[in-house]
Amino acid sequence: MQKILNVSAIKDGTVIDHISPDVLFKVISILKLDLCRDMVTIGNNLESKQVGKKGIIKIENRFFEDHEVDRIALIAPQAKLNIIKDYKVVDKRSVSIPTEIDAIAKCFNPKCITNFEDVTTHFAVVSKKPLALKCRYCEKITFGDQLELK
Ligand SMILES: [Zn+2]
Repeated sequence: MQKILNVSAIKDGTVIDHISPDVLFKVISILKLDLCRDMVTIGNNLESKQVGKKGIIKIENRFFEDHEVDRIALIAPQAKLNIIKDYKVVDKRSVSIPTEIDAIAKCFNPKCITNFEDVTTHFAVVSKKPLALKCRYCEKITFGDQLELK
């Protein structure tokens, strides 16, 4: 028997699909969905033919800006965004890691100026998989498992 996930459809909003289960709550946190006043439906460890297990987040009345999509890409690079208007998928987007990252990530080096002065961080992405970001100020590399977003 086929199991069908019955989560309520949204009229307008965004479905973030194919999130790796171990980062689902990180995505919720970086998008500040804990503060969202619209309907948010979260499913985790759902069966997926493509990736084994996955997480999914449906957010009513939210459409993400490019800088927010970049944040999603850093945490969940395989995520797919479905844009819903009037119950229909009107657009599908893959997320992609940009070549430069401004303002959204923290440098892991505790001595870096960006961690004790009010300086906007800038990183060059030196590797996407595994993720490695080179700080413009101290030139140290922050790897994906050390990454914290602002
Ligand atoms: Zn730095």
